[in-house]
Amino acid sequence: MAQNKYDLGFARFVRDNVDGGDRMNMCMQCGVCSGSCPLGDQMAHGPRKLFMMVRAGMKDEVLKSNSWQSCVSCYNCVVRCPRQVPVKYILQGLGALAIREGYSEASNSDNSAFGKAFWATASKSGRTDERAVTVRYFYGLGGIGSLFSKGMANMSIAMGLIKAKRMPIFAMPDKVKGTADLKAIMVKAQEIQARHGGAGE
Ligand code: SF4
Ligand code: SF4
Repeated sequence: MAQNKYDLGFARFVRDNVDGGDRMNMCMQCGVCSGSCPLGDQMAHGPRKLFMMVRAGMKDEVLKSNSWQSCVSCYNCVVRCPRQVPVKYILQGLGALAIREGYSEASNSDNSAFGKAFWATASKSGRTDERAVTVRYFYGLGGIGSLFSKGMANMSIAMGLIKAKRMPIFAMPDKVKGTADLKAIMVKAQEIQARHGGAGE
């Protein structure tokens, strides 16, 4: 027997388990979010359509979609939504859900590689260091080959940042005072996230 591709409990699950999901039923499908999104033309489904797919129970398509992977957290959709739907947070939550559910599209995505690189530096020092984040991110995309090819492809951007004094070459990475306290906070945060079924690091 053919498997039903629609999961009719999916919308309820998203409402109860995804940050901001409880406001998704306020969406009136006006399309302001999709029309305001600078990455809209890169998304297979804009936020408006993605929310309709959630309602329709298209769990697989939603969790494999590149929509939440393409979001750059610019908040245009959040500030413009006439119904105060926290669009960006819902997209982010759907991404976390996709990782929890083991979708390879999520764990192998650019967003995932960038998130891991960001987390690795920010959680250790309390600061992000462009050099460390970039190296980890490019490496995470495909190892040493990716680090080299992406590094070369983005060299002019790096040179621009160095020239504008936005990225030091030789200075030691900055860090907050009390990194032991930071570590304790991070451990506690991960415990709380795990209790709520989060994906963790
Ligand atoms: S802007 Fe808000 S109400 Fe309009 S489609 Fe997007 S989420 Fe729904
Ligand atoms: S926060 Fe994400 S989804 Fe919203 S407008 Fe910006 S890029 Fe698009």
